[in-house]
Amino acid sequence: MKFEEAKKEIEKLRKEINYHNYRYYVLNQPVISDYEYDQLYKRLVELEKRFPELITPDSPTQRVGGEPLKEFKTVEHKIKMLSLDNTYSEEELLEFDRRVKKGLGRPVKYEVTLKVDGVAVALHYKDGKFVLGATRGDGIHGDDITQNLKTIKSVPLELLTDDKELKNIEVRGEVYLSKKNFEKINKEREEKGEPIFANPRNAAAGTLKLLDPKEVAKRNLDIFIHTIPAQPGPHHKSHFETLNSLKEAGFKIIPHIELCNDINEVIKYMKKWENKRDELEYEVDGLVIKVDNFEDREILGYTIKSPRWAIAYKYPARQAITKLKDIQLQVGRTGRVTPVAILEPVPLSGTTISRATLHNEDEIRRKDIRIGDYVIIEKGGEVIPKVVGVVKDRRTGKEKVFRFPDKCPVCGEKIYRLEGEADWRCVNSSCPAQIKAAILHFASRQAMDIEGLGSVLVNKLVDLGIVRSFDDIYKLDVKTISELERMGEKSAQNLINAIEKSKERDFVNVLYALGIPNVGINASNLLVNEFKNIDKLMNASLEQLTAIQGIGEVVAEGIINYFKSPKNRRLIENLKKAGLKFETEKIVAEGPLKNKTFVFTGELSSMTREEAQALVRKLGGHPSSSVSKNTDYVVVGSQPGSKYEKAKKLGVKIIDEQEFLRMIKDFKK
Ligand SMILES: [Zn+2]
Repeated sequence: MKFEEAKKEIEKLRKEINYHNYRYYVLNQPVISDYEYDQLYKRLVELEKRFPELITPDSPTQRVGGEPLKEFKTVEHKIKMLSLDNTYSEEELLEFDRRVKKGLGRPVKYEVTLKVDGVAVALHYKDGKFVLGATRGDGIHGDDITQNLKTIKSVPLELLTDDKELKNIEVRGEVYLSKKNFEKINKEREEKGEPIFANPRNAAAGTLKLLDPKEVAKRNLDIFIHTIPAQPGPHHKSHFETLNSLKEAGFKIIPHIELCNDINEVIKYMKKWENKRDELEYEVDGLVIKVDNFEDREILGYTIKSPRWAIAYKYPARQAITKLKDIQLQVGRTGRVTPVAILEPVPLSGTTISRATLHNEDEIRRKDIRIGDYVIIEKGGEVIPKVVGVVKDRRTGKEKVFRFPDKCPVCGEKIYRLEGEADWRCVNSSCPAQIKAAILHFASRQAMDIEGLGSVLVNKLVDLGIVRSFDDIYKLDVKTISELERMGEKSAQNLINAIEKSKERDFVNVLYALGIPNVGINASNLLVNEFKNIDKLMNASLEQLTAIQGIGEVVAEGIINYFKSPKNRRLIENLKKAGLKFETEKIVAEGPLKNKTFVFTGELSSMTREEAQALVRKLGGHPSSSVSKNTDYVVVGSQPGSKYEKAKKLGVKIIDEQEFLRMIKDFKK
């Protein structure tokens, strides 16, 4: 096949695939079968493989392309991304309408849409092609998240229109996660021992912040387009009509959009959706009401904070009253102990509620919540509803004040609450409530770096009772592991090798691996530099610990409590016997890096960022991830991000990789 022929066919295939994408992901009305679609896609991949010079960034095959980013570039919003004023009542809506009519001196039409609880983004098109996507940020500057937005299948990479004005447009929308996907993600996170997201909006925001588009693609984000920030041209006069044209151009426009002739129709819409919104597959927390005509908007203008021609209406949070039967403690994967209200089951916005969070000890005291009380519970977009208050008029005198226990309900060990912290914690490394997450941390890269000890295997090993604490890992053998389902002899051998190799890890990694509360890799370094071996550290006093620059009171207390536990001391003895290093061999160099803070931005050519940071640590310096006045050096690699700009602004010393290498050359071995 000749180049020209291939080029033609590729162009045709892309057009077809884009169109079918639109039918499937935007309109939900496919006209071909999945099989036929796959054939088209495969053919395109095949041709692009043969003619890689024909691959363009807007090809449907490039949705999940590119390498993970180091950081996001900052982009400026030419048209500010303002937030809207919020209203909470019918009166406030009428008041808004009066202001608008007064400003215009004539009646006005409103466009009204549901307010989806997601993350606001801006999308820019040039010559019909998607060229830039950004977060709102502070409204003036946002992050360039083009790569991540491309993974959303309903974001058109190329528009299906010939209208010049529409082909060069900025649109804004809401990236959201469906309720179903949100639950799925949280379930997976829980299984892996990762913290769960509080609500779909948090989950969507967290996902857009991921630097690896491949990870973003797995989360199945979606988008609704709802705003055209500027009139695209003289013959597009109405926002509503322009949005409808954009629908034909390939955008997934927010559904249930209506053009209302007056504010009364808006109020009718508001009432209609108040309860009906629970049936939708995404979270809706209110409405957005906008003056429809572009010219009218121009006349009304803006305040400093928001447009005068638009307003948001928020539905009230939903509440119910029920009896608090008991308060139980729940131990999270990190040892955090949270009180949970056990309730007389009560229906609330479509589900039956029998548990609610009480947050922490202080909240219970502050709200004076007693066992036997009638309590008000509230459900927002959160997973677990919360107790917001007590109906004191219904007290009989038999209610019991709750006393926070001092033992972990799961393992029975003493729990601690540190000065200045709200939560009680179980610090037992072998606590069954925490052991899975603790082992994953223990095996992680900066800790013991045991490749192959992932969540699926850890779940099995713990559930079968084979691994009950870290030292059990060093008792594993090939036979035990290969007998586990789906684990061949070869991978079992690899894992045993990785476990064996982990014994060579430095004391600092071992200390970090233990998972002492608030002791990250930096604190581990400070402690290792000071104490050199575990025995000295175990016997250190609070004064000795807090005397170290960088170790605060909370961290120090956490360390002391950790070593108070006989179980933890026994664990360390066992790990010593297994052959792990609990002392340093080398003395950290008294080099030019001592006590200097380093920030890296952009890509280094001679090492990864993690390696560079480890080197800084080893030589007595402190790597940091953000630039401040206290930063001593910013090391700039190729394609530096916003940290470089910030360093310039703050006047921090900026050096390149060569200079950094020169600084450390006498110390690097
Ligand atoms: Zn425990």
